Amino acid sequence: RLRLEVATVQRELEDSLSNLDPLTGTPSRTGMLTELREQHALVVRKVHPCAVVMIDLDHFKRVNDKYGHVVGDKVLVGAARYVMAHLRPYDKVFRYGGEEFLICLPDTDLRASHEIVDRLREELGSLLYEADGKRRFHVTVSFGLTLLDPDLPVEQSIDRADKALYVAKVRGRNRVITWDASMNVLPAEPEGSA
Ligand code: GH3
Ligand code: MG
Ligand code: MG
Repeated sequence: RLRLEVATVQRELEDSLSNLDPLTGTPSRTGMLTELREQHALVVRKVHPCAVVMIDLDHFKRVNDKYGHVVGDKVLVGAARYVMAHLRPYDKVFRYGGEEFLICLPDTDLRASHEIVDRLREELGSLLYEADGKRRFHVTVSFGLTLLDPDLPVEQSIDRADKALYVAKVRGRNRVITWDASMNVLPAEPEGSA
């Protein structure tokens, strides 16, 4: 047992040193801004555009409430692994918060990123999760999409992706919404998100 515990502690230590989120194995937020700022520099130099996408699992609280936290964790791990396995090698995924992820798609314009992300949305929503080995269910996902703006700090582009995600939730979830300027006047929190 001791050996197992040592192995667990060792893995957690390795994860934290390499900035991986221990639950899902996705990079944690630590390196996110650095990565986005590197991409931003390339956008400024017009090397390529870069899409930033906020991802949030729909009604995830209900999953925890109905099936328990352990099953909720499995859903998070499943969704995160799916995203990591199905993006291109140079795309990046970060665990942004609880059931929220941020992805960064270098060398991708709005049209291409919308296509990539909408396919991901469909696939994630069709993944089959299992509770108690018999109850099966799906979890849909909402996406807010924008391009890194060369004239803004990356934090403001993240905020745009977040606003677009908010609109995706308001419009009924399970969709990809692209940021536009009209979203700058939105209230801070989506209604009925709790
Ligand atoms: P919405 O569609 O508006 O996003 O609804 P929601 O229920 O997904 O959103 P809300 O923000 O109300 O709830 C998020 C839930 O995610 C609440 C929290 O308990 C759960 N959560 C966050 N991190 C984890 C985690 O690591 N494991 C598990 N099992 N649940 C988590
Ligand atoms: Mg959330
Ligand atoms: Mg959610």
